[in-house]
Amino acid sequence: MSLQIMHIGLDDTDSKKGGCTTYLAALLIKELEQFKVHFIDYPLLIRLNPNVPWKTRGNGSLCLRFKYNVQYEEQIKETAINLWEEQSKFKEKGTDPGIVIYKSQTIPEELTAFSKKAETTIVKLKEALKLIKNVGAEAIGFNSCRGIIGALAAIGEILDADHTYELIAYRKQENIGTKRRVDEKSIFKMDEITAPYTFNNVDIEKNRIIITPRGPDPILFGIRGETANIVKEAFELVKTWEPIERWVIFRSNQGTDAHLKAIKDLSKITPYSSVIVKGIVSKNPRVIPVRHIIFSIKDDKKEVDCAAYEPTGNLRRIARELIVGDNLEVYGAIQKPKADKPWTINLEKIDVLNLAQKVTTENPLCPQCEKRLKSMGKNQGLRCEKCNSVFPNLKKIEKPVLRSVKNGLFITSTRSQRHLTKPFRRFGQEKKNYRNQSLISKWHSTSE
Ligand code: ATP
Repeated sequence: MSLQIMHIGLDDTDSKKGGCTTYLAALLIKELEQFKVHFIDYPLLIRLNPNVPWKTRGNGSLCLRFKYNVQYEEQIKETAINLWEEQSKFKEKGTDPGIVIYKSQTIPEELTAFSKKAETTIVKLKEALKLIKNVGAEAIGFNSCRGIIGALAAIGEILDADHTYELIAYRKQENIGTKRRVDEKSIFKMDEITAPYTFNNVDIEKNRIIITPRGPDPILFGIRGETANIVKEAFELVKTWEPIERWVIFRSNQGTDAHLKAIKDLSKITPYSSVIVKGIVSKNPRVIPVRHIIFSIKDDKKEVDCAAYEPTGNLRRIARELIVGDNLEVYGAIQKPKADKPWTINLEKIDVLNLAQKVTTENPLCPQCEKRLKSMGKNQGLRCEKCNSVFPNLKKIEKPVLRSVKNGLFITSTRSQRHLTKPFRRFGQEKKNYRNQSLISKWHSTSE
């Protein structure tokens, strides 16, 4: 028996009206069982640059990696392509499905570099097609074929450093589009039991569960965590009032900050990227409709606006307290300037490195009777109302004010975090390496 390794990348098969590329991957996993494939990794759910203007939702792409018997090669390809075609909502505007099939024992460096680029900036389809040709992969696309970019990027992401897991449970066809029937109490309990090894299950500020999406897609809920075992354990703690059609555990770059790139100074910002950059507050925060906070930072090269939008909750409250002179490191997405809007960083995190001294001014006490002096008008000195003494040369004194904000890292509230944002709960749990680990015995299941 001759064994080979195949990588199948999938992207952009869904639309706002329905579908889901993770569901297509789940169906394909089941279909591939007939060819006795051996998965060498969990299916990968790779989130790409969250700032691409043409994404439907979370810019997710998928990759399946498995060993197979070469005698089934054509059948495997045909099965994958047929299913991809059948599940793709290619008649919907903005859906540009792509599938990439790559047979190789290893992933070349140029492919991993392409994936990193797709996670942090904008890449062109031409670049993806050239790479596909170079490495000898095969690709098919519909409409603009843009999905090929994501499909290739998913194959190139080997996730050998930090990564997380997500168990996604899917709904039965007949329930799609209806309200998701899950026991919220069991989800709060699951969060309590599995913390800190699962994350983003609930929004404590709003007392709300956040593992269920809202749209007409087939996902019932998704649980994110540090290991395959913990998300499975968490899954068993969640009660639902509707049947689960199937579930799959994905390995992912979610919650790892993979989209953020540290840059040296503000002159290096480029549109549609996400950065980590230092700067000093140069304009005090101001409120713009509807309750968004804008302030400016600068370094010796450039000045940019920073925006903490209303849904960022926590972050917005911190942003409001900043003053000129505060030394920060900010994390966020770069927005291209427009005629009425300068370069702006949409904030995800603020690291307060050093706070400026805030001062208020007040009149000094009368040197003779210790009553607070009164001003006699601009540049006219001070006068004591009690003893009537006049002090033409005395000036207001500065008094330090205690700042309510403290040094440290602040992250946008859970509900407004991007899929890639690393939440507080993950700090200290980052993984350093992942190489050919074996999968847990049951990492997917279907009720059919
Ligand atoms: P999902 O719903 O699965 O979370 P999404 O639906 O938000 O993801 P898609 O519908 O897949 O996103 O649309 C994103 C499109 O952008 C895809 O065609 C993908 O190939 C493409 N794309 C992804 N990353 C980049 C990038 N860095 N540069 C250019 N195009 C990209």
